[in-house]
Amino acid sequence: MKNSDFKTINVTERAEAQEKNANPFLETVKGFGFTFKRFLDHVTGAEDHLISYPEEKRPYSNRFRGTHILTVREDGSIKCVACYMCATACPADCISIDAAEHPDKSIEKYAKRFDIDMLRCVFCGFCVDACPEEAIIMSREHEICEYTRDTTIYGIDRLMNRPQAVDMGPGYRPNYPMIESKLPFTPAHPDPDKAGKPVNTTPKKK
Ligand code: SF4
Ligand code: SF4
Repeated sequence: MKNSDFKTINVTERAEAQEKNANPFLETVKGFGFTFKRFLDHVTGAEDHLISYPEEKRPYSNRFRGTHILTVREDGSIKCVACYMCATACPADCISIDAAEHPDKSIEKYAKRFDIDMLRCVFCGFCVDACPEEAIIMSREHEICEYTRDTTIYGIDRLMNRPQAVDMGPGYRPNYPMIESKLPFTPAHPDPDKAGKPVNTTPKKK
């Protein structure tokens, strides 16, 4: 394909043109109309868009960037080789790693300590992108309220074993299906697209 085959779209010009041609009165009426339709749907029970959280939860996508998961090898040992790529890429400086020598000389190092400060984390996923080993991925777990500051720092154990992550399922993992790594737990929903509690938003029958 030649460069001349591509069409260049100037989004600024397009937005300005749309703004210029827009009829403010019509757009306002359309907006109110949409709101009124939603109101009627809810009052008549035709469609229910409410989610009764926390009893019901939105089924987040398998690209959701929730709390992290450290993956494992076939034998269940931690996959991380303590290369510090994730900690270097992290814009929030919230990953702390202590490296130790691995008994297997072909592996060289492993993470003896791997902490993520979840209160500092901005859930950007850069650590996952930077990892050359598929050793860190994200989950769909988004409920990370705690009573003390200490418990917001997740260590290796917590990054590998969390019932919430089992229920909600794994999230952002750009190399899915994972080729070299394994999850340290079995997700409650084997199909990655069905993880999370589904919320019924289909119109109710009258
Ligand atoms: S998601 Fe972003 S902010 Fe959080 S640990 Fe990874 S790189 Fe750091
Ligand atoms: S999680 Fe990945 S990027 Fe981070 S230290 Fe371990 S192997 Fe390196």
